[in-house]
Amino acid sequence: MDEHTNTRAGQVRVGVLAMQGAFREHAAAFDRLGVSASYVRTAAELDSVDAIVIPGGESTAIRHGLVRGGLYDQLRTSIANGMPALVTCAGMVVLGTAPADSAPPTFGVLDVTVSRNGYGRQLHSADSVIEIDPSIRGDEADTSLTVPFIRAPRIEAYGSGVEPCAWLRSGPHAGDVVAVRTDTIIACCFHPELTASTTFHEAFLRVAHDRVQLGATR
Ligand code: GLN
Repeated sequence: MDEHTNTRAGQVRVGVLAMQGAFREHAAAFDRLGVSASYVRTAAELDSVDAIVIPGGESTAIRHGLVRGGLYDQLRTSIANGMPALVTCAGMVVLGTAPADSAPPTFGVLDVTVSRNGYGRQLHSADSVIEIDPSIRGDEADTSLTVPFIRAPRIEAYGSGVEPCAWLRSGPHAGDVVAVRTDTIIACCFHPELTASTTFHEAFLRVAHDRVQLGATR
């Protein structure tokens, strides 16, 4: 066991929203860090975690699952009140604002405007190289990473208080911001959980740990 990582992370109860999408792959990424994440499908399960992952998949299906499971409002309020969240692809759509989207509404708790499937056919489903900000990668991890984009949302705009933390390195959209963060949220257009790298999961655990230390997740 990596003592440093586990000592820090051991105090945080990580939940992975398991309505639909790549939730198993996120849990596997935490497993590789020695952290046992639990699946969240009910309000009681959400009550028992300190930090939440919303995976990629299909944001409409995830939102309908939240309504059906009776935890739409609870999850939205928890994240708005500072529950640490790592959200990827469809998860970013759920947290942000997607103007052309249908009901149930996106949460609007992260000040980003996204267009769903905004990369169209070019990045329909392709691996691309991203540059990663030091605030995510810490001292020693990768400065760049090859990550899959799968019908990815495109960030059209983001507000103050939202910091860009990864960019496309090359191609027709070079320089595009493809991940952002706030004090409590890390949001990616791509799928870090489908890579061997745990850089984004480690950054999330640091955020969650700091938040739990402050006793501030609820
Ligand atoms: N296009 C999907 C959506 O808008 C997201 C795709 C993904 O999560 N890989 O929900």
